Amino acid sequence: MSAGTVIIAGAGQSGAQAAVSLRQEGFEGRIVLIGDEPSLPYQRPPLSKAYLAGKVEEPGLLLRAEKVYADQRVELMLGQRIEAIDRANHSIRLASGATIEYSHLVLALGARNRPLPVAGAELKGVCYLRTLAEARSLRERLGSISRAVVVGGGFIGLEFAAAARAQGIEVTVVEAAARPMSRVLSEQMSAYLSAKHEANGVRIVVNRAVCRLLGENGQLSGVELDDGTVLDADVAVIGIGVLPNVELAEAAGLAVNNGIVVDDHLLTSDPAISAIGDCAAFPSSFAGGMIRLESVQNAVDQGRLVAARLGGKPAPYASVPWFWSEQYDVRLQMAGITSSHNQAVVRGSAQENAWSVFCFRDGVFLGAESVNRSPDHLAVRKLLGAGIAITPEQAADPDYDLKQAAAAAGK
Ligand SMILES: Cc1cc2nc3c(=O)[nH]c(=O)nc-3n(C[C@H](O)[C@H](O)[C@H](O)COP(=O)(O)OP(=O)(O)OC[C@H]3O[C@@H](n4cnc5c(N)ncnc54)[C@H](O)[C@@H]3O)c2cc1C
Repeated sequence: MSAGTVIIAGAGQSGAQAAVSLRQEGFEGRIVLIGDEPSLPYQRPPLSKAYLAGKVEEPGLLLRAEKVYADQRVELMLGQRIEAIDRANHSIRLASGATIEYSHLVLALGARNRPLPVAGAELKGVCYLRTLAEARSLRERLGSISRAVVVGGGFIGLEFAAAARAQGIEVTVVEAAARPMSRVLSEQMSAYLSAKHEANGVRIVVNRAVCRLLGENGQLSGVELDDGTVLDADVAVIGIGVLPNVELAEAAGLAVNNGIVVDDHLLTSDPAISAIGDCAAFPSSFAGGMIRLESVQNAVDQGRLVAARLGGKPAPYASVPWFWSEQYDVRLQMAGITSSHNQAVVRGSAQENAWSVFCFRDGVFLGAESVNRSPDHLAVRKLLGAGIAITPEQAADPDYDLKQAAAAAGK
């Protein structure tokens, strides 16, 4: 497809990538990038890290300068919400009532915060951390609060906890499961991170659910747990996951199942509509089935892949999944999908804050979690990308040269 109009719905990480890559792939038609947030497309990862810590300001969050979109002839429509897709007429309808026709539609709609379904959720001081607007308001509050409760021990909640501790705020993390990040990290890594947080003064409460948020004069004052404990709080940061934005697709009759369902080329059941990024559920050999990922790697690679297809170079999506997080002096990097592992092998030294956990299922290598050991992480990405398995014995052997194995994989 070299002409026509490509509408990209959602101007976040994946949508902005698709728009710019599409032009680079030689697409000569019209590219319209539509997003409901008011700002130019920006990076979310720093919102819970450097931005919250006051180490980066808003202009530093932008993915690209405005001029890049103009140079690439990407029409930006910001602060505009898409309300409907009319598949029969190949058009979308904006909240303003305007309609725009497409030759191809890329759904890059992301996800939204999962709301905490308890009384008191409307109180001032109950915060979420997904958008720039939310991060801005949270950052402003950090200067004037002394106690925060984080609901949900996931990456965003724990990154917030680290940033808040650095500013001297008392932090308690409440996690409903038996350990933080139980769905995504090995037991060893989650124990290590919990210990890091505790050493930095964070209190972690596990196996407890929040049943009520308490307030005085409309302002949050405490968080009540299901055992009756009340934690005093000026701010509660809710980090209990997200809901993919699938409603537009669903209303248009596209298949939806924990995300907008796409095939290995990221096409929905309608050949004129693709879906990418946090909102898309796709088949993955790394997951052994359908999966929806929330990561920059996935958003960027899927944006590029769809752009290449529309530019005339179709290929199945097979990128190695990877992710990172930063908390205190820990740079955690993960490669592969390791959630189903039943064997974990350690390389390096947790005491020295430089170690990796290699994960296996029935002896099959799935991926690794690395703390301050980027060479391990990069080697694992190469091995997974080349489909080369290592054994638990090799992973545990400090004399086994991972880098060399990865270099051989690249040949
Ligand atoms: C605080 C935070 C920290 C993170 N840290 C990391 C990290 O360290 N490493 C990592 O790999 N990933 C991280 N992530 C995840 C990563 O940022 C996301 O996976 C990525 O942004 C997904 O890109 P996307 O384009 O799919 O969605 P988004 O970037 O969310 O963009 C979707 C856009 O579509 C808009 N939209 C939705 N519906 C409509 C509509 N009807 N009309 C118009 N526009 C609409 C949304 O408002 C949004 O602007 C983090 C995320 C958050 C929130």
